[in-house]
Amino acid sequence: MSSCPRCGVEIRADRRFTTWCAACDWNVDPQQSDAEKKRGLERVRRRLARRYGERLFAELSGVDGRRPRSGRTASGLLAYTIALAVHGVTVALAAGGVWFVVNGWGGIGMVPGLLLTALAWSLRPRLNRLPRNAHVLLRNDAPELYALIDEVARAVGARGVDVVIVDDEPNASVTQLGVRRRLLTLGLPLWEVLTPQERIALLGHEFGHFTLGDTRHGMVVGSAYNSLVTWHYYVEPAEDSQVVEVIANVLYFLPRWLIAGVVMLLDLLTSQASQRSEYLADSAAAHTGSTQAAVGLMDRLLVTNSVVTALHRETNSRRMRGGVRVSAQDADGLWEALAAHMASIPESEYERQRRAGALRGHSVDASHPPTHLRRRLLLARTPVPASVTADADRADRIVAELADVRTALARDVVRDGYGY
Ligand SMILES: [Zn+2]
Ligand SMILES: [Zn+2]
Repeated sequence: MSSCPRCGVEIRADRRFTTWCAACDWNVDPQQSDAEKKRGLERVRRRLARRYGERLFAELSGVDGRRPRSGRTASGLLAYTIALAVHGVTVALAAGGVWFVVNGWGGIGMVPGLLLTALAWSLRPRLNRLPRNAHVLLRNDAPELYALIDEVARAVGARGVDVVIVDDEPNASVTQLGVRRRLLTLGLPLWEVLTPQERIALLGHEFGHFTLGDTRHGMVVGSAYNSLVTWHYYVEPAEDSQVVEVIANVLYFLPRWLIAGVVMLLDLLTSQASQRSEYLADSAAAHTGSTQAAVGLMDRLLVTNSVVTALHRETNSRRMRGGVRVSAQDADGLWEALAAHMASIPESEYERQRRAGALRGHSVDASHPPTHLRRRLLLARTPVPASVTADADRADRIVAELADVRTALARDVVRDGYGY
């Protein structure tokens, strides 16, 4: 026990968490001052995100609990159109390159043709691939997990996934893999601290993104974004100020600003579209796992900071214990230790995170609505029961299927350390 330096009220301090005062909000968000320092365009971007976020929340909390079929918005469609135009430029360059090569075959005319083709090749959209050293779970490795995934997918009107990978992020996500295949990434640090029903809500949220068409759009917009980054690299100012470079820098000035402008616009538009998608995917989470489980998931997401610090601390102490060579035993019980830590988080820490989120408003992460608002929106709607459930047997079978990958990942994390 100590007393608040601002209002003098008694506060209970837990060394593992930020000490703060519930009476006057003293130290409720020690990181906030960094976020406030943003200036210029970043501030404009945040202000726009906040204004849009407030309107969106008001709009969605007025809607009844009906399940939306699509999250398409004008901003999402505009981002998609810009992305297609960016790819269109690449296609035009490639076509021009081929034309020059064919017409100048054998002669000097081939040179611009080859240059254009090479440029187009460097700007081509790249499809997602499996990350190297990924812990992959195929259908045969985890039939019960896949059966659950299929059931959740059906419940939200989507198709299941072709590949599941497990990684060490306190998160989960879905993407396209290549053109036709679908990938689900489960972050074990999040998965491990959820109840079986909350896991269903998490899967419901992720498959909600498939139903909303986010992944295909994401692939087109994301690859256009990468292509713009490559463009920007080509017109970057040179370091040396030789005469030729000075001239090039002047000539590149306009394209550079044009590219930067398009990137920013794309950023703004996609952040608006993705805020909406996140809320809609949350409603899919409630419809599959129940409102209660979806709210429980939000609570866990609220304290992912604690997941990161706990894993950081656990891996460090295990590495110290293991000395030079980290053995398999050093990784034993890592996930259990994490779950125990998460179970011991006091209600005051949840409350602090909610209040800190309210203070930050929409400003912190422009692509996701703040977690406390996602939670509040779930609670504002008529509660819905689960449409997918897992009994204890089923949950146990899934745990057993994940056992190997769980051990392997714990060993990786302890060996390499868990970074912030
Ligand atoms: Zn106080
Ligand atoms: Zn999401």
